[in-house]
Amino acid sequence: KILLASICVAFIAVKWSAPSFNPESLRGARVLVTGASTGIGEQMAYHYARFGAQLVITARREKVLQQVAEKCLSLGAQKALYIAADMGSESDPERVVDFAREKLGGLDYLILNHIGPSPFSMWEGNVEHVRWLMKVNFFSYVQMAWKALDSLEQSKGSLVIVSSLLGKIPSPFVVPYTSTKFAVNGFFGALYHELAMRKSNVSISICTLGLIDTDSAMEKVRGVTDVPAYPATDAALNIIITGATRQPELFYPWFTHIVNLSKDWIPSATSYIIQNSYKYNP
Ligand code: NDP
Repeated sequence: KILLASICVAFIAVKWSAPSFNPESLRGARVLVTGASTGIGEQMAYHYARFGAQLVITARREKVLQQVAEKCLSLGAQKALYIAADMGSESDPERVVDFAREKLGGLDYLILNHIGPSPFSMWEGNVEHVRWLMKVNFFSYVQMAWKALDSLEQSKGSLVIVSSLLGKIPSPFVVPYTSTKFAVNGFFGALYHELAMRKSNVSISICTLGLIDTDSAMEKVRGVTDVPAYPATDAALNIIITGATRQPELFYPWFTHIVNLSKDWIPSATSYIIQNSYKYNP
């Protein structure tokens, strides 16, 4: 009981000490959001639009991006431009950053959010898929961050990384995806320290999400697990606030923070829960 009470007090203290969010700070902000044709990225684009930001959105499907950009303008975005790109290609990640910097005259926020499609099933040895997914979900993040760093340094900007609880706790049925998210957390977690040690102007926020009700996630887990899914629009808003207030971490929903701590406190119970949260008959 004492332990639980201390955890609650610690969480309330962290919440109270978090800087408050000023929506006006995003008016006219120059923002690049990746993976913005659907899901959480699309919802982030709409929130930024309502805050009056200047947006560049990207994903592979141009027609869908065009529709999202039109909706952003109707919601109040000062600018909403789009560029179709494949993050599995060698040159597209840098091309997208160049496009955004040129069209917006600099960059205040780089929101790295895209992920390539990956099956929800036991890993059967498809090494090529792991290699490709690393390119899309990890190497393109590295390339884009490096390309944008100068602009972010000049604007005292923010790098926002959308990651997952599965980048902190390895999980079955998503071996390639989990691997890419661990790589993302490792790279940007280390870069966070280096930027702080160099007294850089750039803030890094790493956002750890639990299950979110996007179409792509729900298609995979429907009927397989009873883990609750949280709304994409709320997840998106929490990510934006975390970036705007320059906080290093977000856990959404809040209890993902406890779940993450539990893997070190009670590892065998955590493994038991993980292996028994899915309907699986070998
Ligand atoms: P979605 O699958 O809904 O969206 C993925 C986006 O990435 C789409 O816009 C897609 O557009 C784009 N994309 C896919 N492949 C490529 C590619 N090769 N090059 C460029 N863009 C590509 O994902 P979610 O919204 O569910 O997830 C968003 C983020 O949130 C991810 O980082 C994910 O890891 C994280 N997250 C999500 C959770 C969830 O339960 N939904 C849980 C934890 C974390 P297009 O097809 O047009 O290219």
